[in-house]
Amino acid sequence: MKKFLIIAVDGPSAAGKSTVGKLLAQEYNYTYIDTGAMYRALAWKALQLNIREDDEGSLKNLLLQSEISLKNVTKKNRLEIQIFWDGEDLTPFLRTPQVGMAASKISALPGVRMTMVELQRKIGCQGSVVMDGRDIGSFVFPKADKKFFLEASLEERAKRRFSELQENGLKVNYQEILIDLKNRDQNDRSRSLAPLVKTEDAILIDSTDKKIEDVLYLMIREIDR
Ligand code: C5P
Repeated sequence: MKKFLIIAVDGPSAAGKSTVGKLLAQEYNYTYIDTGAMYRALAWKALQLNIREDDEGSLKNLLLQSEISLKNVTKKNRLEIQIFWDGEDLTPFLRTPQVGMAASKISALPGVRMTMVELQRKIGCQGSVVMDGRDIGSFVFPKADKKFFLEASLEERAKRRFSELQENGLKVNYQEILIDLKNRDQNDRSRSLAPLVKTEDAILIDSTDKKIEDVLYLMIREIDR
């Protein structure tokens, strides 16, 4: 196998991209990059600073003046990602539905996306990365060595997100999560710049009825091919 691959894992929210992305990165000793967490970090910062979700200029400036960094750490043999904003660890604050929805809105602003995409290209261009997002194979790295598009039914994704948030101690409502995912998917698929699409060369995996090990097996088989 070629050594320094760029592996793109795209798909809608809660399709299992981050779970399988981290396992893939562990398998190949690669760096896992969660591009959604980068948009979430900006959204969280904007909420803290009372910057409006449509204030493209201020959001872009905030991003340009700040330093976002990602760190992979292994805890109990599991790879986790931490995200820092000017050295401050924002990881614990980013997984709420409120931050997710704000991230979805600000990520549709072309000035924000282009600035973020530039940063993502800088981080990933050396290869040996598994990058998870919506537009990695279509826009950030259209020449990625392997592209996967992970799908799952809306109900299954809502179930997974519900369990994940509950396990993290958040009070959540299944119906609200389902609507939140549906709205975010709609935003992601309909934006003008770099919408969520499966490119022709991406390998489609529907994980609705699959165990995570089975999805991982399919991906490894494709990568090692
Ligand atoms: O993947 P995650 O749910 O953490 O992403 C948060 C939001 O960021 C998504 O709803 C999506 O709108 C946006 N996003 C994006 N492009 C990416 C990654 C995430 O637009 N590459």
